[in-house]
Formats: sequence, structure tokens, C-alpha cells
Amino acid sequence: LGPTVCVGEILVEIVATTVGNGFMEAQPLVGPFASGAPAIFISQCGRLGGSAAMIGAVGTDDFGRVNLERLKGDGVDISAISIDPDYPTGSAFVRYREDGSRDFVYNIATSAAARFGWSEGVSNLIDRAGHLHVMGSALSVSSACEVIDKAVDIVKTRGGTLSVDPNIRKELKLDEATERRFARLVAVADLLLPSGEELERAAGVEGETNAIRRLFEIGVKEIVLKRGADGATYYSREGERIDAPAFIVAEIDPTGAGDCFGGAYLTCRRLGMPAADALTYAAAAGARNVTVVGPMEGAGTREQLDAFIATTERRS
Ligand code: ADP
Repeated sequence: LGPTVCVGEILVEIVATTVGNGFMEAQPLVGPFASGAPAIFISQCGRLGGSAAMIGAVGTDDFGRVNLERLKGDGVDISAISIDPDYPTGSAFVRYREDGSRDFVYNIATSAAARFGWSEGVSNLIDRAGHLHVMGSALSVSSACEVIDKAVDIVKTRGGTLSVDPNIRKELKLDEATERRFARLVAVADLLLPSGEELERAAGVEGETNAIRRLFEIGVKEIVLKRGADGATYYSREGERIDAPAFIVAEIDPTGAGDCFGGAYLTCRRLGMPAADALTYAAAAGARNVTVVGPMEGAGTREQLDAFIATTERRS
């Protein structure tokens, strides 16, 4: 079994610590924290002891080092992360509004995060990858799409597996080419990890039951639907359904919950755990991560998640 490989944006995130009308009021800001949905996902895989590797890019600046050191420390293979001599590491500023929604200021399009392509390092890694994880957010970057298309072909042809987290904000309108690419990815995914309304969007039909049925017809094998503090539900193609109630925690910073959940679920499955146990670790990883400021600061090791599970109640 080759490593789990994740492709996409690597960023730093700077977080407002108070709620205000804008960044001028929501002071002070803290960070930079290592971030980027794909990077959070792979960090959680690495922390849980799964064999994990990342494809993406950072600049030569210190924000790049924040990410590289973090991922390396989590046991993630960083050999296919390129270091762009001309562009800075991507960044995002996040502020939470009173109603819990978020206001982001991004610098991705003109950063290293949007400029990586196929390279010898990427090729060497994909040739030994056992599993590929793709986030919908990476599809807005055309150079990432080239890598993803090629990597999906190679990994699937060799008998490897693919998971897809749509990770597409509901307000986001995709252009036609991206919409088609997204549909193609869903059609070859083994595991789908949608959150809320992304399920119907991925299926192209309305209603949870219809969407699940449609996705299994298309060829998806497992679906885990994430519902924030309301927990998650697992569906298998064979008709099994398992509800995974959320752990009861005080939410401090919701960013990264879904990525930690997905990374933990996938890693536990790849380590041979049954779905029910993997779901428990995933729910713990998601819940633990929201209790800490910073998008991946709460990603847990096996020992940390075991301790969290042993001491935290779940909703009924
Ligand atoms: P995404 O970030 O992809 O939208 P969710 O917000 O649904 O994903 O979070 C993923 C999982 O993390 C949830 O299914 C749940 O198990 C856990 N989780 C998220 N937020 C909370 C919370 N406030 N309390 C407890 N668990 C949570």
C-alpha cells in the first residue's frame, strides 16, 4: 500500500481573535498558522501514523517554512512540494462574524499555491501512491487541475483509490469546465466526503436519499456526509448506514474540522479499521480541531484522539 497523497493549496492563515465589523476591529490577529484544506487533511493523516505525502508549492519565504516544518514534523513526505523562487507562499486572513460565518481575504491566485505543475518529484511520488485525495477547492487553480487529471489517471489505472471532498462553498459558481472536471472526479471516486449541501451538488439531484442513490449508481463506493456539530453519516454501496454523533465540545475555531475528519477517516480505513471505528476517530479529530485556534492546530495523534474519545461525551 503506497502513501496517501493529497494535491492542492498550501497556505498560511492569520486569524482574527475577536468578532468585529471588519478586520480593523477584529483585533488582534494571530498566526501565521500552517493551512490550506489539502494541507490540513494530510497533516491529520500524518499525525495518525498513516503514510502520507503532499503535492503543492510554497515560496522561499518564511511562510513556506511554517508549512514545510509543520508537515515534516507530522511525518508527511514533502519531497513533491515545490519551492517557487518567484512567488510568495499563499495566505488567507480569516475573521468570524457574529453569526459564525467567515470573512476571508485571500492571496492565492498570485502565490506559489497557484503555480505548481507536474515535475519529476510529483511523477516519482504518483508512481508509488496508493491513494489520492482531491479537494474541490484545488480545481479553481488551473495548474493544479493538470496535476490532478494526470495523477487520477495513473493512480486509478494502477488499482489505487481516490477520495474527493467537494469543499466547494455553496455561493461559489463554478465555470463549465470546472463543473465538468468536478463531475468526472466524482464519477471515479471511491470515497466521497461531502459536507451539507455539497452532497446534492455532487450528485446533481435534490434530496439526500436521491443524491446518495445517484452517487452509488455513478460508481462511488462509500459516502460520509459531514454535518458539523450534528455529526456525520456513513453510507456504503451495499446499503449500510452508520450515524456518527458529534462529540460535545466548545467550538472556538471551526476551520479545518472537515479536513481533519476526512484525513482521520481515510487513514483509519487505510490502516484496516472497520467503518464504525474509523468514524469515531474522524468525529473525534473534527471535534478536537474546533477547540483550538488555527486551522490544523488541533489535529490529533492516535494517543491524543484515544484520550479525547475516552474523556468526551457524544450527542445522542
Ligand atoms: P466541513 O468543515 O467540511 O464543513 P464539518 O463542519 O461538517 O465539515 O465538520 C466535520 C466533522 O467534524 C463533523 O461531521 C463533526 O463530526 C466534527 N465537528 C465539526 N464541528 C463540530 C462541533 N462544533 N462540535 C463537535 N464536532 C464537530
